[in-house]
Amino acid sequence: MVNVCDINVMKPLLAEHGFHFSKAKGQNFLIAPWVPESIAVESGVTEDVGVLEIGPGIGPLTQQLALRAGKVCAVEVDNRLKPILDITVGEFDNLEILWNDVLKLDVPALVKEKFGGLRPMACANLPYYITSPILTALLEAECFEAVTVMVQKEVAQRIAAKPGSADYSAFTVFCQYYAEPELLFDVPAHCFMPQPKVTSAVITLRTRKERNWDILDEDVFFRTVKASFAMRRKKLSNGLASGFPELGKAGAAEVIEAAGFDAMVRGETLSIPEFARIANEIVRRRGAK
Ligand code: SAM
Repeated sequence: MVNVCDINVMKPLLAEHGFHFSKAKGQNFLIAPWVPESIAVESGVTEDVGVLEIGPGIGPLTQQLALRAGKVCAVEVDNRLKPILDITVGEFDNLEILWNDVLKLDVPALVKEKFGGLRPMACANLPYYITSPILTALLEAECFEAVTVMVQKEVAQRIAAKPGSADYSAFTVFCQYYAEPELLFDVPAHCFMPQPKVTSAVITLRTRKERNWDILDEDVFFRTVKASFAMRRKKLSNGLASGFPELGKAGAAEVIEAAGFDAMVRGETLSIPEFARIANEIVRRRGAK
């Protein structure tokens, strides 16, 4: 197997094919072999698993996944990488590469088509410029047992944040609504070529089997979360009144009280079941009118 993480191998390989890194495509390739190996091991990929990889690049993580998984489907937007991937991962019969933009794919349909009989997982060293839309698509697809990704460390901390902490955000609640996050390990900038300006981290999101929060309307729930974080450090009633203009200030205050919270409560301290109580109160008021 070609050791693609060895820069004495990688540099001539890239030069031979006239390949130049694209900043616009978020191309920071791994040059530390322990990283793709650890990601593949920690993601729990085994031969009964079908893995969707996003952005194989020249294939360091692809190799490690293909060594362990029943099937790997890798989606890469940059087809200049084709002749290089032919050399680095061409030997794997359980690998299929799709030359496409992952954001243009129907992920649930793809998973159904490619991974019949296997446990679906997603795994990637994500292009950082589209971390949020890709994670959103993967979680909303609701078809993966687990999603293991390398992202900027600050994004990983935001995904795993606890209510009331500085990192807690609407994106935290979105991710934790679908999955339980676990921070795995940090990856320093010197493990990549070219080096990014930030430290990275690997995080696993294990899809929740059940969501026992009795949310009456998912759309109202997510609007409540968004409105609650829109005015950080202000009373929740201000955010709710601007996110749900039909409530007005008095109505927003009544919702908060009816849901059992103090009038001074701030949105960024609320847990998912607490957001659910508020959102459900908004739904009930609508129904009562
Ligand atoms: N997996 C390789 C590694 O770890 O060395 C490359 C990771 S690099 C951070 C991100 C990869 O995602 C690049 O190969 C890039 O071309 C690819 N990429 C960027 N945008 C993409 C998109 N919208 N759809 C699919 N792949 C994309």
